[in-house]
Formats: sequence, structure tokens, C-alpha cells
Amino acid sequence: MARRKKIYEGKAKTLFEGPEPGTIVQYFKDDATAFNAEKRDVIEGKGVLNNMLSEFFMTGLSNIGVPNHFIRRLNMREQLVRACEIIPLEVIVRNFAAGSLSKRLGIEEGTPLPRPIIEYCYKDDKLGDPLVAEEHIAAFGWASQQDMDDIVSLALRVNDFMSGVLYGVGIKLVDFKIEIGRVYEGDFQRLIVADEISPDSCRLWDMETGQKLDKDVFRRDLGSLTDAYSEVAKRLGVMPKGATPMKPTLIN
Ligand code: UDP
Repeated sequence: MARRKKIYEGKAKTLFEGPEPGTIVQYFKDDATAFNAEKRDVIEGKGVLNNMLSEFFMTGLSNIGVPNHFIRRLNMREQLVRACEIIPLEVIVRNFAAGSLSKRLGIEEGTPLPRPIIEYCYKDDKLGDPLVAEEHIAAFGWASQQDMDDIVSLALRVNDFMSGVLYGVGIKLVDFKIEIGRVYEGDFQRLIVADEISPDSCRLWDMETGQKLDKDVFRRDLGSLTDAYSEVAKRLGVMPKGATPMKPTLIN
């Protein structure tokens, strides 16, 4: 088989040219990084779990009419997605205070926010993805006003969907990050949800115990990351066979 052309290698995923024009194969690695890659490790099974979980969330979003890049899962670690121009912003939605918001504003983690708060970070690893205001986005032309309206609407729909689905399995969606891509259809263009939606990019707390089931387990050394992600996958019914060879007790 001809070797596939690698388009981009990121911290947690590698992108390859897809089989048809306008498609990309997204390969989920086991690498975990935090604090702008200062902390790193390889966590067996993480890529498989994120592949399955992102498929689950993106498929659900498609089913309620929220456009996104997911086409189909190819195997345990790869999915076929639609190629798009990524807008250089991390779009963060918060329902409860945590992480950098708690630090920045001195609000105790877990405090409910009066309404969902959307924040933007400029995607640039060298700068550590700095927080930016809509003024910067407009002034530097990263997105137009129409784009920003569409981004807010997509972000809030993703938030409502994810919050509801996770609530159904006893998990609180504290916050999450999405990325947005631009696709061209004839003379038109539109924005879609891209990248991934997984416990790598969300804060997920058990509703009863407050136990963390997301990447904070890795960031803050709170135990096994695969156990945490497997728990999310198990509750959502997307636990893949053989995904956690180290912890067979969780597969049932
Ligand atoms: N997040 C992410 N990638 C980033 C930064 C943040 O996926 O580069 C997610 C993070 O997992 C959390 C939310 O966005 O669910 C808010 O993160 P925060 O700004 O609190 O940053 P952190 O505390 O992770 O530095």
C-alpha cells in the first residue's frame, strides 16, 4: 500500500491526506501533554478512547443538525473527517468556574456561572495560546463579525447538547474547548465544528462525587487517565472492546 502523506502532526493527533479530495484521516495518538507540552507522557489506550468518544459526540451533533467535520470512523485509532480551514481560535465554553478562569478571577472551582461564558484563545503554541478579546479577533481579521455570530451559536448548541447527554449519565460538563473550521460549498462558505470533542478537551466531573473524569487527572496527577476516560466511555455506552488492556475489569 502506498504510504500516506502526513499533513500535520500535533500533540495528540496526526493528520494524513484522506482517500478522496477534501477529506483528511485523523489519527489519535496516545500522547498526553499539558501546560503547553511541558508535561508529557504516553498513555496506552487514550487515542482509542478519544477516537470513539469524539465519534460519539460528533455523530450526536450531526443528528441534531449541528454541522461538524466527522464523516466516519475508519478503525480504532482513525477517523475520516472533512478538510476545512481551521480558524486560529480555541473556543472555550464554561458552565462552572475551573482552571484558568478560577485562577484569573479568584473564583472557587465548581462555582456555577450565572450564564455560559465563551472565551477565545489565539491558537499559537509558541505564545501559549493567549486569551484574546473579540476586539483582537476583529482587528487582526481572524474571523469576521458574521463568523463570530456563527461561532457563538455553534458553541452554545454544542454546550447544550453535551451538557444534556452527559447529565444523562451523571456527569457535569464544567467546561470545554472546540475548534471551528471553514468549508467552501460552491459560492458559499460556512463554519463547522472540527478537531475533536473528548475528555482531553472537556472538564467532566462526576455529578455525585465530583471525581474528575478528564485530562485534569493527568495535569494534576490524580490517578489513571485511562480509567477516567474509560469510565466516561462506559457510561455513554461507547466502550470499545480491548481499548483498555491494562484494566479489563472496567469492560463489562
Ligand atoms: N482546553 C483545551 N486545550 C487548550 C486549553 C484548554 O482543550 O489548549 C480545554 C480544557 O481542557 C478545559 C477548557 O478548555 O476543558 C478550559 O481550559 P482552561 O482555560 O481552564 O485552561 P487550563 O486550566 O486547562 O490551562
